[in-house]
This record gives sequence, structure tokens and C-alpha cells, in this order.
Amino acid sequence: MERDAAAEVLDGIPLPAFIVDADERIAAKNAAARGVLSEQPIGRKLALALRAPDLLSAVAEVLAEGGRREVPLRLTDDGQYRVAVSALEAAGGRRVLCVLRDITSEAQSEAIRRDFVANVSHELRTPLTAMMGFIETLRGPARDDAAARGRFLEIMDREAGRMNRLVRDLLHLSRVESEERVRPRDPVDLSGVLRGAAATVRPAAEDKESRIVISGADGAIFVPGDADQLMQVFLNLVENAVKYGARGQEVRVSVSRENTSRGPSIRVDVADTGEGIDPIHLPRLTERFYRVDTHRSRAEGGTGLGLAIVKHIVNRHRGWLRIDSKRGEGSVFSVILPET
Ligand code: ADP
Repeated sequence: MERDAAAEVLDGIPLPAFIVDADERIAAKNAAARGVLSEQPIGRKLALALRAPDLLSAVAEVLAEGGRREVPLRLTDDGQYRVAVSALEAAGGRRVLCVLRDITSEAQSEAIRRDFVANVSHELRTPLTAMMGFIETLRGPARDDAAARGRFLEIMDREAGRMNRLVRDLLHLSRVESEERVRPRDPVDLSGVLRGAAATVRPAAEDKESRIVISGADGAIFVPGDADQLMQVFLNLVENAVKYGARGQEVRVSVSRENTSRGPSIRVDVADTGEGIDPIHLPRLTERFYRVDTHRSRAEGGTGLGLAIVKHIVNRHRGWLRIDSKRGEGSVFSVILPET
């Protein structure tokens, strides 16, 4: 009778849970435990059902001494759990209740956070180390060398600029992420935004003898959004098209209408005729600090955060970012924004 009652309680627990009896056999399990214990029958030795030495010794200890333990459990399919192993004291003897909490996604976000902190530290340390080196040289060997001083100060200025951009982009990213659930709804004229972005990037384009040509945006085109953030999206995309595009090219920004699952939408293509991107990089391109060529990106003053910011802003607008690219031919970055 008591056994059935315990099994009934198990079914009420919304986590994988099972009971182990005094001779370490599975006495009962709930429906949620099916994923973990698969088809292991009642009465099977736990040691045969799960390859988990930590859990087995915790079960043995609790059976012997009572009380409660908590142990990690890692399954072959990459699932990670924490298992609460507690004694069930009853007239018929002591048994053990095991309740599993799935911490796979917690562990994954923890790993992502750790990677991110390591990346940021590395990105900041590189320019900082360069600057410290130059300060030392300016204080010592180059103290009285006016020509060297001018050159070094220029490099230090560039490195400080790099740190400044990195901090700026990090702040942008964290702000956009924290607001991502709230869809912005101010009417924004995309034509105006695109003209503004093109005007800002134009001097850099001229340095590369390139032209930025906008088409399909003669009149006002309104979408619900956040004007500053949409400006940021197209600044980043047009800037990249110029940076990674060919010298003397035409960067084409074209606006068209498209019907999507979210209804009528506006599509903006930013196309360059640069080196293009190998398809193996495409799925990871919007990850923070992911770059196809780190040297190239650094030389161009990039932070590796531009596309991550673009992706988050586009998500916040409930839109889509598509990247189409062919090695040696160029790339098209498309942003699709719902009109309603
Ligand atoms: P970055 O600051 O390095 O430019 P982004 O996040 O803007 O960072 O872009 C990430 C990487 O994607 C770049 O380092 C570059 O390798 C690649 N990339 C972005 N835009 C283009 C483009 N238009 N053509 C080719 N590669 C590009």
C-alpha cells in the first residue's frame, strides 16, 4: 500500500523522479523520468540502469546513513542534471527518493557568459598592452625623440579609439539585449534613416573611391520601430559593405516590399561586391566577436560586435536578418521589417 502511495506522489512531481529501495533497485518512477531512465523496468538495479558513479555512491550513503545529498549527473546526450537524493523513512525500512533538475541550459548560459567575459578581457587587453608599451618607451628610450613621440602618440590615439569603440558597442549590445522583449512602435521613416546612414558612411566610402547608391526609397516609408536603433543597424551594414567591399565599388542599398508570415514587410538589401564570405562562417557571423579574419577586422577598426548588435535590434523589431554571400562575388545583408 505504502509503495503505491509513494509512486502516486512521484507522479505529482513535475521533475524526473524515482525511488530506490534498500537493495538499490528502482522501486518506482514517474512519467517525467522516462527520458532519463528510458525503458528501464521497475526492479532493475540502479547501477545497471544508469552509468553514474556519483549518484550511485550518494544513493548508497543515504541508504546507509539517511539524510540528504545533492550530486551532479551528466548523461551521454549532453544533458546535465543536479540530483537531490533524500532518505524516505517508513515502517517498511529506508528507501531513497531521487529528484532530478535539468540544468543543461543553465550550464550552457554560464559557459557562454564565461566565454564572453574572457573575450571582452582579451579584446580590451590587446590595445591596453600596446598603450602601456608605448608609454614606457616614451618615458625611457624615446624621451627626447620628437619624431618617435609623434608617431607613438598617433598609435596610442588609435588604440584608445579602439577601446572606446569596444566599450561603446558593449554598452549598445547590453542595452538592446535588455530591451529585446519590448517591441518599439514609433513610426520611423526608413528612407530618412537610410539616407542618414549613407551620409555618415560616405566619407569612409570616398576614401575607398566607392559609392553608396540607394534605390526604392524616394518617398517616406514608415515602419514601427526605434529610429536610433534602426540607424545603428544600417550604419553597421553599410559600414561593413564599405569596409569589406572592393575598392571603387558601388554599395547598393535597395528597398522593396515583401509579404512574410508577419504580413506586409519592408525589405532592405545592402549589397557589396567585395570578397564575400565562405558559407561555413555564415551561421556564426552574428555571434559576438566572431570574425572571418581577425587581423582584417582589427586593421579596419572593427570590434566584432557590429552584426551581433544588428541581429538583436532586428529581433527586437520582430524582423529578420538574412545573409547571402558568394566567395569572390560579394555579400547581400537583408533586413526585413514588418510594416505593422
Ligand atoms: P567587425 O567589427 O569585425 O566588422 P561585425 O560584427 O560587423 O564585426 O562583422 C563580423 C565579421 O563578419 C567581420 O569581421 C567580417 O569578417 C564579416 N563581415 C561582415 N560584413 C561583411 C561583408 N559585407 N563582407 C564580408 N565580410 C563581412
